[in-house]
Amino acid sequence: MTSTASSLRRIETRAELREQLDRTRNSGARIGFVPTMGALHEGHLSLIDVVRAHSDLVAVSIFVNPLQFGPHEDFNRYPRDLEADAAMLADRGAEILFAPATVEMYPKEHSVRVSPGPMANEFEGRIRPGHFEGVLTIVAKLFNIVQPHVVAFGQKDLQQAALVRSMIRDLDFDIEMIVAPIVRESDGLALSSRNRYLSEPERKEALLLSRSLAATRNKFDKGESSAANLEAAGLSLFDDAKIARLDYFSVIDAETFAPVQTAAKGSAIVIAARLGKTRLIDNIIL
Ligand code: AMP
Repeated sequence: MTSTASSLRRIETRAELREQLDRTRNSGARIGFVPTMGALHEGHLSLIDVVRAHSDLVAVSIFVNPLQFGPHEDFNRYPRDLEADAAMLADRGAEILFAPATVEMYPKEHSVRVSPGPMANEFEGRIRPGHFEGVLTIVAKLFNIVQPHVVAFGQKDLQQAALVRSMIRDLDFDIEMIVAPIVRESDGLALSSRNRYLSEPERKEALLLSRSLAATRNKFDKGESSAANLEAAGLSLFDDAKIARLDYFSVIDAETFAPVQTAAKGSAIVIAARLGKTRLIDNIIL
């Protein structure tokens, strides 16, 4: 059966979502779920296709989660365009859009958090203290409300995906998780809701992220496996950078996020850089 653009149901409360999805679950249908913060692009939409292949109904949430933003981050200016997002979801055939208000997810008395463990203190977590606690807390809440059979996350946020996988394992969520490949612009820039902040010169220099990763992969494919040499190859692209400021560029174990000395097939290279006020991340798996 193909979905039509008119079949997207918009829901704002936890109670209504539970009621709707209980009916779906009781009928024996499998529920697929994609959590997002909106400002949707092809990267998000690709996740719908991925869960669609494993489920009968696809629910997408749009919620800009205040808990995962630091006090000096872009929570207030994070792009929000619910009408455009809803149109894209309808077009892509999602059945349910859950877009709750902040108080719906965090009523006044909320205080319990999910503690993500040591992996959350490295890389993104080192630069964004509390970020992954906020991410796992909202993801756990959404998992409990939606009770999906299958969820999709993007490799784009590799550390987030690794931590969600650990949470599913450690807290015994009965959920199948799929990590989907990074969707990129034709010139290599990984799609991100934050790309729209970039000025023209920043957008040009943002290519250093994907290019340094590609240069490193190239060197690995030619036989170099020393992490230090691979990192030096990638870093050298930033020598002439005028705008881009690197936060990190590292060869790591893709599951534990521990740095490695020798890269192997399956190791990841992660990068984060600032272009003016905009922080971008990217990665590849060798
Ligand atoms: P966000 O709205 O940024 O929280 O992202 C929601 C989901 O979309 C996360 O699982 C992201 O990893 C995923 N995502 C974001 N950008 C991309 C991309 N370029 N390719 C694939 N997945 C993505």
